[in-house]
Amino acid sequence: MGDKSDRPTLAVHGGAGTLRRGAMTPAAEAGYRAGLAGALRAGHAVLAGGGAALDAVTAAVCALEDDPLFNAGRGAVFTRDGTHEMDAAVMDGNGCRAGAVAGICGPRNPVLAARAVMERSPHVMLVGEGAVQFCREAGLAFAEPGYFSTEARRQALALVLAQETAGVVETDAARRHGTVGAVARDRAGNLAAATSTGGMTAKLPGRVGDSPVIGAGTYADNASCAVSATGHGEFFVRYAVAHEIAARVVHRRQPLAEAAVAVVAELGRIGGSGGLVAVGADGAVALPFNCDGMYRGYVKDDGIVYTAIYDEPYAAS
Ligand code: ASP
Repeated sequence: MGDKSDRPTLAVHGGAGTLRRGAMTPAAEAGYRAGLAGALRAGHAVLAGGGAALDAVTAAVCALEDDPLFNAGRGAVFTRDGTHEMDAAVMDGNGCRAGAVAGICGPRNPVLAARAVMERSPHVMLVGEGAVQFCREAGLAFAEPGYFSTEARRQALALVLAQETAGVVETDAARRHGTVGAVARDRAGNLAAATSTGGMTAKLPGRVGDSPVIGAGTYADNASCAVSATGHGEFFVRYAVAHEIAARVVHRRQPLAEAAVAVVAELGRIGGSGGLVAVGADGAVALPFNCDGMYRGYVKDDGIVYTAIYDEPYAAS
């Protein structure tokens, strides 16, 4: 979907690895929608008060990181060693400033760690222990590893490892991944994007996905669009998905929705399942995905929050 509204806009996703339709109970659906709506309201409150797109995406992603249903912050998936290694990025379309962290466990909200790298270091990306140490010195809130762990993710790890041992190919993407992200355009016309993830269940320790890679899973430039992606990260890195969409908008002058839908469809054809949320310089929104579903939603100036999971019409709340 897309439109030409020149108003503040926020879109979020809670990952392309949704539960299979058959496994989705009314209670689970209500929980996911409430999580998305809460994040949209948190970000919209910033935009409605005249705040910056960067603050809106940070607020929305913090809300999703705090919600154990989503694979980021609390509720992050486990590596095959039973640890958490989280990745996150933020990008400010005003000046193309960016910050990212990868392979961290400690900071309670990884998106705040990414933002601290952008605002308080001369670098774009910090990883592992160095990143954690930087966050400690920056005074960010920390949590014990157990804070991030949930029983559902522990079971998902056990299942994936058992399937691997049995030689079974995983067909339920929801057991392997997920991610959260937000994109926004504020009243001043500035764009921003933020993405945060636990990565993929049973990943090798040290594996870094697309989420913290600027131009792959996260990108924002006032001249084109802001993008936050979710899906099989290796594909999004190899095809520089977020930047590819921005490049098509700038160089081919493709409408955002057209560029986003085309790139996500091409990715699907080569086996890269996933989706993304994007907002354009004109406030247009695109939320395409090439798999069963993607937890997602958006809110515009009127404050009406729209959420969807599969390809059903958006529900307003
Ligand atoms: N893109 C994330 C990663 O590969 C996972 C996801 O979005 O589902 O780490």
